[in-house]
Amino acid sequence: MEELTKQCPFCGQTINAAAIKCKYCGKWLENPQEAQPEGHTQQQTPPPPPPQQNWQQQQPNYAQQQPNYQQPTQQTYYVEQPRKSNGLGVAGFILAIIALFLGWIPIVGWVIWFLGLLFSFIGVFKAPRGLAIAGLIISLLALLVIVGLTGWLTAAFKEGLAGL
Ligand SMILES: [Zn+2]
Repeated sequence: MEELTKQCPFCGQTINAAAIKCKYCGKWLENPQEAQPEGHTQQQTPPPPPPQQNWQQQQPNYAQQQPNYQQPTQQTYYVEQPRKSNGLGVAGFILAIIALFLGWIPIVGWVIWFLGLLFSFIGVFKAPRGLAIAGLIISLLALLVIVGLTGWLTAAFKEGLAGL
């Protein structure tokens, strides 16, 4: 086993690498404050951590950006508008489906059908118009069903009356 050695920077003698004081010339090889237990290492305490400083520096930047904050909101308003669901179109679509099955009911069914047709028609002029167009088509289908059913019921009713 070879012992680790180093050269004393003051006298040039080969000494133990772990030595903090040269045994030949008697000089301290390392900072005496570090070596001696009395000298506390207050001078070498590390500086405060940088993350906090960065955070404090970003605060004013954020405050400077706030005056510009109102302009993007106007843009997002235009972006959000197409995203809004077509309430009237959806209502018209749902009412049209209801009218398809219940439109034969006198007055109530006809009102549902008419509202479905009306909402779908208005909804067609708004985006997204997919459901509104479907509601419009279903409303027209429902009209055929209603007219057909009403005619059949009326005919049956008349036949029934005639049968009496
Ligand atoms: Zn020495």
